[in-house]
Amino acid sequence: MSAPHVVILGGGFGGLQAARGLAHAPVRVTLVDQNNHHLFQPLLYQVATAGLAVTDIAVPLRHIVRAQANTTVLLARVKELDVARRAVVLEDGELAYDHLIVATGAVGTWFGHEEWAEHALALKDCRDALEIRSRILLAFEAAERTDDEAERARLLTFVVIGGGPTGVELAGALVEIAHVTLAKDFRRFEPGSTRVVLVEGGPRVLGAFPAELAESATQRLEGMGVRVVTGKPVTNIDASGVELADERIPSATVLWAAGVRASPLTHSLGAELDRGGRVRVAPDLSVPGHAEIMVIGDAAAVPWRDGTVPGMCPGALQMGRHAALNVVRATHGEAPLPFVYRDKGSLATIGRSFAVAALGKLGHRKSKRMTFRAVPVLQGDRRPSSAVWVVGSSLGGVFEGCSWPPVVQWRPDP
Ligand SMILES: Cc1cc2nc3c(=O)[nH]c(=O)nc-3n(C[C@H](O)[C@H](O)[C@H](O)COP(=O)(O)OP(=O)(O)OC[C@H]3O[C@@H](n4cnc5c(N)ncnc54)[C@H](O)[C@@H]3O)c2cc1C
Repeated sequence: MSAPHVVILGGGFGGLQAARGLAHAPVRVTLVDQNNHHLFQPLLYQVATAGLAVTDIAVPLRHIVRAQANTTVLLARVKELDVARRAVVLEDGELAYDHLIVATGAVGTWFGHEEWAEHALALKDCRDALEIRSRILLAFEAAERTDDEAERARLLTFVVIGGGPTGVELAGALVEIAHVTLAKDFRRFEPGSTRVVLVEGGPRVLGAFPAELAESATQRLEGMGVRVVTGKPVTNIDASGVELADERIPSATVLWAAGVRASPLTHSLGAELDRGGRVRVAPDLSVPGHAEIMVIGDAAAVPWRDGTVPGMCPGALQMGRHAALNVVRATHGEAPLPFVYRDKGSLATIGRSFAVAALGKLGHRKSKRMTFRAVPVLQGDRRPSSAVWVVGSSLGGVFEGCSWPPVVQWRPDP
């Protein structure tokens, strides 16, 4: 009898961790992803703001699992799941499975205003990051060429919608580009006149962080020149700018960091979903009624405290490991174990030298000392492309023993 076939959908944080957890298991693993690389999403904003190259944060999946003889990587887009036939329907074929781990993450959502997507760019993958980078740099180029002052002001106004960690990080990086990096690069306008507006519909930025840290983040952003607007939901976005209830902000570049929902694939599981499209999994991460299917990471709604495990790398990594463990237990005829989430805290960076961190039992931190120099030391034949100044975004992942970068040395800033 051949070894059980484990199909893992998604080579992100959860799926890759599950694959690695099965490296020595008596199973055949097929890891399917629509991209051939694993992406370190926490640093996408640095690619979008021209601080890093794509190759600094994306590594081929095959390269990562090349030493795992039982694992095959397939570049394919999953169309739907046929749970009755235990088959994964790809755009160009099918895969039968004995165990299925769904780790297809999340996608951007514009809360019923999908027409805004054209004007308000979301940041989810490398393509998005490169498109955003291009729009930002082209806005500066256009500002250099125009003689129309109102148009120049519109070109030099960047609006970031959504005051969560990604929005805060984007706003901080944008204002730094304009006021520091490009400070001397243009002749017909003063890059320091660039306006960055961070719009949050809720009462404060970093709603999931303690209020004290949110206040520090706001002060820091405002000190850097970001206008922070809270309590004002966006009412419209079009090609020329953003509308709030009582104000119109002319802008050529609008970035959307306001929301995600689970990958649409969760719908074809026929399971109960929460409002964000995430599968309400059983305590062992399986789909109720389907012990052979587990859903992990951003696609899963896993109860924790008063809500659910946050959609962040540590949760996905822990669930990936746990899913692998339960598959191994199944191969030994043992019952699955319930998943227990361990909170590793949250962190948001603002510019290159400031971060706020809620570190669980370690308490709260807000300081320049929270900055670290991260030097990716890549395995195998890949040499470090550059010493990267990460200002902590990936700290949650590093605490977790993150799968990529394979080795990271963290040193406190001198
Ligand atoms: C810009 C940004 C910044 C972030 N910053 C942080 C941070 O600082 N700290 C933190 O902890 N978390 C952060 N997150 C959240 C974190 O990245 C996610 O919680 C984590 O990636 C979830 O892991 P996952 O395995 O569920 O999904 P993902 O890592 O998103 O992986 C999903 C994979 O599934 C693949 N896929 C999806 N649909 C299909 C399909 N139909 N067919 C084939 N393949 C498919 C995708 O290509 C992808 O590789 C950030 C996210 C973003 C977008």
